[in-house]
Amino acid sequence: MDDSLNFDTLAVRSGTLRTEYNEHSEALFLTSSFCFTSAAQAAERFKHSEDYYTYSRFTNPTVTMFEERLAALEGGEACMATASGMSAILSVVMAAMNAGDHMVSSQSLFGSTLGMFSQIFSRFGITTTFVDPNDLDAWKNAVRPETKMFFLETPTNPLCELADIEAIGKIAKASNAIFVVDNSFCSPALQQPIKLGADVVMHSATKFLDGQGRVLGGALVGTKSFIMEKVFPFVRSAGPTLSAFNAWVLLKGMETLSLRVERQSASALEVARFLESHPAVNRVWYPGLESHPQYEIAKRQQSAGGAVVALELKGDTPEKQRENAWRVIDGTKICSITANLGDTRTTITHPATTTHSRVTPEAREASGITEGVIRLAIGLENAGDICRDLARGLEG
Ligand SMILES: *Cc1c(COP(=O)(O)O)cnc(C)c1O
Repeated sequence: MDDSLNFDTLAVRSGTLRTEYNEHSEALFLTSSFCFTSAAQAAERFKHSEDYYTYSRFTNPTVTMFEERLAALEGGEACMATASGMSAILSVVMAAMNAGDHMVSSQSLFGSTLGMFSQIFSRFGITTTFVDPNDLDAWKNAVRPETKMFFLETPTNPLCELADIEAIGKIAKASNAIFVVDNSFCSPALQQPIKLGADVVMHSATKFLDGQGRVLGGALVGTKSFIMEKVFPFVRSAGPTLSAFNAWVLLKGMETLSLRVERQSASALEVARFLESHPAVNRVWYPGLESHPQYEIAKRQQSAGGAVVALELKGDTPEKQRENAWRVIDGTKICSITANLGDTRTTITHPATTTHSRVTPEAREASGITEGVIRLAIGLENAGDICRDLARGLEG
């Protein structure tokens, strides 16, 4: 599609394959395989399975539409969809690395990503050095002759720490390493890492791309040669494929992506300001607040602060902090107590005892995830209602 078109137009108009019936809305191709008119045609199509529909583990038209739309929104040449965000991570590592290779990764990672890097890939001889994402010298110093990949998540979960994509991208380039950025927290509506120097953008489509908490999905966006020659052969053989149904749900989700994320960012800023001024709150982390340690990076790199807000409750001891945090969570009547994010409904979670409970207390403390920390992912409810919902437990 014409790539001079703006984001909002691409979000609803790109990636629309039509059948002979010329349907207006995208068709859902619930079929595992595709038929041929002759044995010769089958032979030809199997030989070029990237260009034809043969079997839905390889390609499916509804999945193709999702891939084209996400590639357009990220400003990348090509996209490969996967069944979940984690299978996108598995696929990019399988595509780009061999036994004996090394990667440099931010230490602030989604829990399962950290588990894959430190416990799973290491069993196959792929090692990882973890660095403070804001320490540029640490990225440089961690590079070895066998370094093949840089991996970054920005903003991070749950404390919304940001890192400079452009600066880290330059180090990756100088080191001949593929630079992968997990863009799940911002979505392309707020941040387009390829424009800032990333080679590959990875998504948990489960979050903002769906946006309504319905399906799991994942994706990798990059150059046509990397996606088709490296990622596709792994995904078509190993089968971490996105289902047609989930692709169809995600296509509909992407049409409202920028409207949702803009409103969620505006509401999140309002909630963050309310929390920052509340006497029971020790600290608030939100990239749209001037008090955020990487506020300058946020202004440069993101078009808004995003939906995720973290706060720390006061309390003299960790036990007291936990009690205060749990009182706020239990006092809510609107927010959903669940670890998912990117939903139209505001979610609230206590990372220390849920998403980050398997991290050692020392590591948690070092990364700032104390017993007083609460993570909010703001939805589309009225922001004032959310502030009042949180105020109940804050005042208790
Ligand atoms: C949720 C998430 C993942 C994992 O995605 P799944 O779709 O749950 O497999 C990876 N990275 C980030 C930043 C996430 O939020």
